[in-house]
Amino acid sequence: MTNRIALVTGAASGIGRAIALGLAGTGAHVVAADLDLAGAEATAAEATSAGHGPVSARRVDVADPDAVEALRDAVCGEIGTPRVLVNAAGWDVIGAFLDADADFARKVVDINYLGPVYLCRAFLPPMIEAGDGGKVVNIASDAGRVGSSGESVYAGAKGGVIALTKSLAREMARHRINVNCVCPGPTDTPLFNAVPEKLREALIRAIPFRRPARPEEIAAAVLFFASDAASYITGQVLSVSGGLTMAG
Ligand code: NAD
Repeated sequence: MTNRIALVTGAASGIGRAIALGLAGTGAHVVAADLDLAGAEATAAEATSAGHGPVSARRVDVADPDAVEALRDAVCGEIGTPRVLVNAAGWDVIGAFLDADADFARKVVDINYLGPVYLCRAFLPPMIEAGDGGKVVNIASDAGRVGSSGESVYAGAKGGVIALTKSLAREMARHRINVNCVCPGPTDTPLFNAVPEKLREALIRAIPFRRPARPEEIAAAVLFFASDAASYITGQVLSVSGGLTMAG
């Protein structure tokens, strides 16, 4: 990936941070984009101290299409056109569907579904124009594949990301742009650790490996899809869940 530009959203924390560090470790120039600029800068500093490829931190709200277009203009103008786009930013709070009001539902869909739509809408045209092909990797969730109690709206948004991945894969193939999707199961990040302890323990007991994933284990699948090794793979949905949903 040396000298390739890779944009990762949600790069301040958890899975996105591990993906940004993993890509930087392959020599890519990573743009670590997040609502939390200080967190993205911390990811960049960690990559630098590990001697990895450069990481540039940028602030973006993926739920704001104007902010996403401003990010596109800044990245393409100042750094270059990304060859890799990873949509990892996400947000949810576990709770009963009947307690989810319209504002909560809108926020979940804006961040988890429309975020990837806005990022793809903004960055695919310059990727196509560059003519070098490219890779899009969306982080959905096993909740979007098989459903998840207490996450109904989020599961719907992530199911949308899966359908978006498959449809975009068809449209982008003629431009040699692969679009794939990684579905984490429970993963040891601030998002999962905010789940009430009893529910978290029950989820972990249900995983054949009896532990949540480490963020680096999700990043490994993303790095594969982002690499030339995945040149003939598109429209695919890979569950990385320790076997939790193998029957689903
Ligand atoms: P996390 O909370 O550790 O990180 C999420 C990051 O997204 C944070 O840095 C946050 O600032 C950023 N973010 C949130 N809203 C944003 C916005 N509007 N604009 C830009 N950035 C924003 O969570 P994580 O567990 O690392 O989640 C990463 C991805 O993996 C998400 O898409 C999540 O839905 C998905 N996922 C996580 C798990 C899990 O168990 N942790 C399971 C399945 C899927």
